[in-house]
Amino acid sequence: MIKSNLFDRMNYAGEVNWDLDKSNNFYSFMNIDILNGCDFSCHGCFVNKGTNSSNLENDLKIISKIADEINASSLHLEEIALGPTDFFSAKNTLDVIKHPDFKRLFKNPDTKFVMLSTLKAGPDEIREKLEVLEKYVGHLDIDLLIATDMDEFLTDPNYISNMKIKWKVLEESGLEFDPAFQINIHPANLIKYDAENLTRLAQIIKTEFDTILEFNPSILRIKHQKQKENLHFWMQTIKENFKKNADGFTYTMLNKGHSGMNNMVINFRNGNFYICPFIYENVFSYENTYLIPKKGEEYTLNDLTTAKEDFFIKQMQFSEKTTNCVGCEYLVSCSYKNVLTFMEANNIKDCFLGLGNGEIHGRAV
Ligand code: SF4
Ligand code: SF4
Repeated sequence: MIKSNLFDRMNYAGEVNWDLDKSNNFYSFMNIDILNGCDFSCHGCFVNKGTNSSNLENDLKIISKIADEINASSLHLEEIALGPTDFFSAKNTLDVIKHPDFKRLFKNPDTKFVMLSTLKAGPDEIREKLEVLEKYVGHLDIDLLIATDMDEFLTDPNYISNMKIKWKVLEESGLEFDPAFQINIHPANLIKYDAENLTRLAQIIKTEFDTILEFNPSILRIKHQKQKENLHFWMQTIKENFKKNADGFTYTMLNKGHSGMNNMVINFRNGNFYICPFIYENVFSYENTYLIPKKGEEYTLNDLTTAKEDFFIKQMQFSEKTTNCVGCEYLVSCSYKNVLTFMEANNIKDCFLGLGNGEIHGRAV
């Protein structure tokens, strides 16, 4: 089934209490890249489709051990996102969901499962995979992120009717879904990301599906020689939209707590954990710069929590080498979000978020 009032509930990160003074609330998020293969070729896809989880058995063992340690501690395991490829199209989806260690990840019934998909697979294939998922891990609370493309959504006359067929399959499933649409941002898009088109798209999604539209900076996933240009392109787009729609503007980077001090967000791929920079959204990047070292033979929760503080200290030190970060009111928040680690890795010295110089302000979500 699809839960009701999606738009109203998902328009804010308000369901979770991010208050920093509630020090007992510490949330953990794991993004696990263990799916392999995808039949599609979406515009702007920078996903690694083929070499994730060379040893699925071992990877699930490592991840579920950490999930057990989190559940045994006072840290709350809030979400597990399964990626990086399409849930319904990946070649090893069934191997993953039938594995007992996958069920073990969701021992705490409050842990949400984040499912990534385009919903481009046929309705029968979607129905079949959901039935298996329900059989093996029936109690799941699922945040479904539907990757979409602005060109496709606004120009293909069949997109919405096709999506409605898949929507019905979700409604008929015994599992519970909170679906939201997500756009892969990339400079090569044919339809401009201007205020008019973005508003049109967001309104169609609200009217037709009663849910929200998020932006996924897939361009940040890889170390790209054009990374600075890509960031500049996206910042200009944000500024243009802010100018035209300042009253209704919501910008997650303004929320100092979101993905900040009392959150631990980690990425996993091929036996290793990595810190996860939060730049408009979680950045799934697997360069050595982000690698979390392990002290012994196996990862422990202590390795992950220690890394969170170690990376924070390194970033406070790196701030001295930047143009605007020292003295910026967002420095602590940006350092916990690993923004400055991302800056150092990409040789960026100037604020690229429009915050350090007060260019952007508005409603924090
Ligand atoms: S965005 Fe997802 S569904 Fe599309 S090609 Fe990339 S991995 Fe496949
Ligand atoms: S100047 Fe920009 S990047 Fe630096 S701390 Fe402030 S908001 Fe973050």
